Amino acid sequence: MPISTLRAEAHDSLGDAIALRRQLHQWPEIGNHLPITREAVLASLEGLPLDLNLHTSTSGIGAMLTGAKPGPTILLRGDMDALAMPEDTGLDFSSRVDGCMHACGHDTHTAMLVGAAKMLASRRSELAGRVLFMFQPGEEGHAGARYMLQEGLLDVAPLADGTPSPVTGAFALHISSSLPAGMVSTRAGALMASSDRLLITVHGRGGHASEPYRALDPIPIACEIVQAMQMMVTRRIDVFDPTIVTVGRITAGTTNNVIPESAEIEGTIRAVSERTRTKVHAGITRVAEGIAAAHDAAVTVEIMLGYPVTKNNSGFAHFASGVAGEIMGAEKVFQMPHPVMGAEDFSYVLEAVPGSMMFLGGTPADRNPATAPPNHSNRVTFDENAMVSGMALYTAVAMRHLGDDS
Ligand SMILES: [Zn+2]
Ligand SMILES: [Zn+2]
Repeated sequence: MPISTLRAEAHDSLGDAIALRRQLHQWPEIGNHLPITREAVLASLEGLPLDLNLHTSTSGIGAMLTGAKPGPTILLRGDMDALAMPEDTGLDFSSRVDGCMHACGHDTHTAMLVGAAKMLASRRSELAGRVLFMFQPGEEGHAGARYMLQEGLLDVAPLADGTPSPVTGAFALHISSSLPAGMVSTRAGALMASSDRLLITVHGRGGHASEPYRALDPIPIACEIVQAMQMMVTRRIDVFDPTIVTVGRITAGTTNNVIPESAEIEGTIRAVSERTRTKVHAGITRVAEGIAAAHDAAVTVEIMLGYPVTKNNSGFAHFASGVAGEIMGAEKVFQMPHPVMGAEDFSYVLEAVPGSMMFLGGTPADRNPATAPPNHSNRVTFDENAMVSGMALYTAVAMRHLGDDS
């Protein structure tokens, strides 16, 4: 199956993809329950030879395309959810929902995956195996992928004649307004970080601000803990297996002449290996408890586990880079020297199946990638033409994984 014609074919589908993307963009939804989005996706898939699995724990959709020949199953993922934030792009298809915006480009992912489903369905007679299209809600902190896995997404039935057809590969794209349109980037191994939430409560004793010796002031203790965590990071963590601990909120007190009873520190912990992730959790707990003890105070340290490290299978990342090179030109495929510290719940899929994720360049033509508003900005915009490469890539990776590269 030649893949050289896929870009031209995807170009013919661009109008449909743009229409769906703009429809989703105007009606963004947040979290794991996206009824309007699910309806739009189902309407777009109508008439295609897909076996649909409408998930019940979330609005997720597993759509299976079965090729004419036997073979394994490859999973292609597109996430569908938006963010709780205002939109200030001025686009004529801006969000019509107050306080809700597709600022991470998931509307383009959904539209590209629908486009790929159409392209692959038209090649059904040539496909040796199956393609499982994963339309996923709740990527933005709601673990939608994990819910879909728990609901049995990967427990796929054998083929009609009983031949097993397990999921042997998984692939996802993520558009970025900070990468030039027409390029992709990825890497072998860790691509994105784990993301855990940190909450430390320092327990002191309230009193009069003029008599701190009769109270137990939690505020300087909290300040010391914040500083000491940064020192722990630089002195105890291998600089080539890094971590980031950022305190995003510190809250205590009500007015100038009262010592409060407690202080709260909230933050995020990022790591790109499970080894450092474990080590930094222990380090934070040790430092917070030790500093509190030094001042005769107590402390509660809570670390709420979020998404694991997004780890590309090296072989699959190499394979997908090769396919991207064929589609877009080898010079357009950038191998990232290091991971990024953002997080992704495609990580759960990659823990279960060898696969990889790739960033798709989407800087608008009139912008500089270095200064264009980034993903999650209230002013972010994407070059919709990038969806041509995206649709071709999803399609080509699935075709090649299913083994026939004639
Ligand atoms: Zn995002
Ligand atoms: Zn995203």
